[in-house]
Amino acid sequence: MQGRMIGDIAVRRIMEYEGPFLAPNDVFAEATAEALAPHRHWLEPRAMCPESGKLIFPFQSYLVQTKHHSILIDTCIGCSKTIPHRPQWSNRTDQTWLHNLRAAGVQPEAIDYVFCTHLHVDHCGWNTSFVDGRWLPTFPNAKYVFARTEYAAAEAGNSTVFQESVLPIMEAGQAQLVDTDFALDDQVWLQSTPGHTAGHVAVNLASNGQAAVMCGDLIHSPVQCAHPDWSPKFDLEPDLAARTRQQFLASNAERGQLVLTAHFPSPSIGHVRVEGDAFHFDYVED
Ligand SMILES: [Zn+2]
Repeated sequence: MQGRMIGDIAVRRIMEYEGPFLAPNDVFAEATAEALAPHRHWLEPRAMCPESGKLIFPFQSYLVQTKHHSILIDTCIGCSKTIPHRPQWSNRTDQTWLHNLRAAGVQPEAIDYVFCTHLHVDHCGWNTSFVDGRWLPTFPNAKYVFARTEYAAAEAGNSTVFQESVLPIMEAGQAQLVDTDFALDDQVWLQSTPGHTAGHVAVNLASNGQAAVMCGDLIHSPVQCAHPDWSPKFDLEPDLAARTRQQFLASNAERGQLVLTAHFPSPSIGHVRVEGDAFHFDYVED
């Protein structure tokens, strides 16, 4: 997988897997066959599987290497996790993601920071690894940056995801709880983008006059560029998420900066532009 430069920042996707995931209507209540019909010609085959009709989602991280830091944004699903509501993600044993990180020339020990856009199961899994009967940070030398509000909500929920992939980071003393406008430096900073979860953040990158933003799960599928009001059934606050999404798309269409998505199909990266009274996503090929 090719990397790309944002000024002097190198950005590379680290894939866990990609494939047909869920039927549109299982994600968006509004996505009836009739509502999707005008979009099929551009959604298929890249973003929607013509055979199964399912939306195609990658599960991936972004490796960001600035002059000063090696950073991971989100850490996918992970191995050996207890995930009852998605059996195919439970007790995974493949090390594909870790292999892909190493293939990018980066050992886990070299990661300085892990940013989680939010603490859902497919964004914090490789935070930890199961070693000798306990959960340990996969990145022994990293600070893990969590939005304070996101951490508090996850702690209150106390799910197995929190217990397996988040709490061990706190117990190891490697968590750094921050405000949702936290800036690591003048090249990497957070932006509050609530709705999908309580403390969801996007991660902005800038260098030498170029800019990009990793948007996490404030948007899941390019069909939402045409329908920014379509909030997935798994958004915590669908109305707030829709407002956040609309503002994000409008501001990125105006600024023209690169958008690094979590779940848009490969190459996952591109530009938002205005189309009619909504938006469209133009991919930038690897
Ligand atoms: Zn996700």
